[in-house]
Amino acid sequence: MTETVQHWCDGKVFTGESGRTAIITNPATGEVTAEVALASIEDAEHVIDGAAAAFSEWRDTSVAKRTQVLFAFRELLNARKGELAEIITHEHGKVLADALGEVTRGQEVVEFACGIAHLLKGGFTENASTSVDVYSIRQPLGPVAIISPFNFPAMVPMWFFPIAIAAGNTVVLKPSEKDPSAALWMAQLWADAGLPAGVFNVLQGDKIAVDELLTNSKIKAISFVGSTPIAQYVYATGTAAGKRVQALGGAKNHAIVLPDADLDLAADAMVNAGFGSAGERCMAISVCVAVGAIADDLVAKIAQRTRTIKTGDGTGDADMGPLVTKAHRDRVASYVDAGEADGATIVVDGRAVQADGGADGFWLGPTLIDHVTAQMSIYTDEIFGPVLAVVRVESYGEAMDLVNSNAYGNGTAIFTNDGGAARRFQNEVEVGMVGINVPIPVPMAYYSFGGWKNSLFGDTHAHGTEGVQFFTRGKAVTSRWLDPSHGGIELGFPQNA
Ligand code: NAD
Repeated sequence: MTETVQHWCDGKVFTGESGRTAIITNPATGEVTAEVALASIEDAEHVIDGAAAAFSEWRDTSVAKRTQVLFAFRELLNARKGELAEIITHEHGKVLADALGEVTRGQEVVEFACGIAHLLKGGFTENASTSVDVYSIRQPLGPVAIISPFNFPAMVPMWFFPIAIAAGNTVVLKPSEKDPSAALWMAQLWADAGLPAGVFNVLQGDKIAVDELLTNSKIKAISFVGSTPIAQYVYATGTAAGKRVQALGGAKNHAIVLPDADLDLAADAMVNAGFGSAGERCMAISVCVAVGAIADDLVAKIAQRTRTIKTGDGTGDADMGPLVTKAHRDRVASYVDAGEADGATIVVDGRAVQADGGADGFWLGPTLIDHVTAQMSIYTDEIFGPVLAVVRVESYGEAMDLVNSNAYGNGTAIFTNDGGAARRFQNEVEVGMVGINVPIPVPMAYYSFGGWKNSLFGDTHAHGTEGVQFFTRGKAVTSRWLDPSHGGIELGFPQNA
């Protein structure tokens, strides 16, 4: 009998009644390893009700006690993160070291949220008017929902839930149905850390679960991460239902290599950022923009490194694992076919890779394509696979136009030894996260993560102080303690004196 990965509600596993399931596969073997429950509207209501019931007690639990639970969760996660990494590799396919790296970056947000006491401090003005004090406080919103993508089943939820919980909200996490087990493992860890039942919940499912989260009046805010069309839909539907929404979408990240760059360092960076996690990262570099006469040298250096990458089962010694599903593998390969048909040069072809893994695994080796133009689908579309396109341009200005006219604006990088050029780039580029000789500029937990344009809908980025703002709302209090000298009738608008 295949195991069914279930929901988590009220501090324990909750078996829904929808009768609907989806399969979970191990991408390195192609085997079906389990099923995941897909919630009905009633299942979703049950989980949302659980989160709503736990809210009033959790919001009034002292900051000190909430913080203690956060510290306990951090300690358990740190001690046991290897288990979580194994779950991720088994369902997602990324290599173990990369899965561990994902958990560690998520843990950094837990560590940031351990300082919530400082982050929730309000302002206080004594004697703003005579004998009148004014102060501000930040309060939690209520039950909030997190809807996450397949590519970071631990880190992306951790961009949000540590801060949401620390601030006094309760959470419903709707993970991707492709790799849902990490969420349940984290739910058990919260219980082990002493989090009261109902504060952290997991709702497994597809569009039906998402739509209920977007429209159910008990849910007060939505943090979504996924592809741009769904992000747009989530933003429009959630805000129409009166909710606060931050919806992070897809990406097409360009790295510009200027003629004065160290080409060996730039080539290392292109390979690491292009093919790490098989390109299934929203911060992956998918376009390398080679400026001027360096293009031939740069492509040769990237090609030489690309050929050394070992593709295989992520539990072994491979550098790069499989793609998440067969359908996704075939879709990515079809973009390589289209690029070839459009006249681009396939320098390294991953379509016929001999992978060190199961014969039915979802394999596609690292693929390097040169002479790509802005009209080709391999350039215009988000491919989300191990495919690095090289576009050749003559000048910095041409490179900048390419980046700024792209519909996405998640991450970008420039490789140069010219500080003035780098400074101009950071000023002019219309992208939310910028690397200078850093190919994957994912901000630390105490800064905020998020793109511009079609890479983010909403006005707050994830984690950092923007995350604290998102999961709390401000209140300004004006107070005057009884003083007989302030009695009397005065109908005019309050003025300060
Ligand atoms: P996806 O949009 O297919 O799914 C994301 C979530 O939405 C999942 O939980 C899924 O169940 C749900 N969903 C899917 N279709 C839906 C529908 N029609 N209605 C309602 N909900 C639906 O994304 P994915 O394939 O899981 O993840 C890859 C995408 O996520 C890429 O586009 C990648 O760039 C993006 N991503 C962006 C960031 C970022 O920070 N901007 C980070 C990670 C991933």
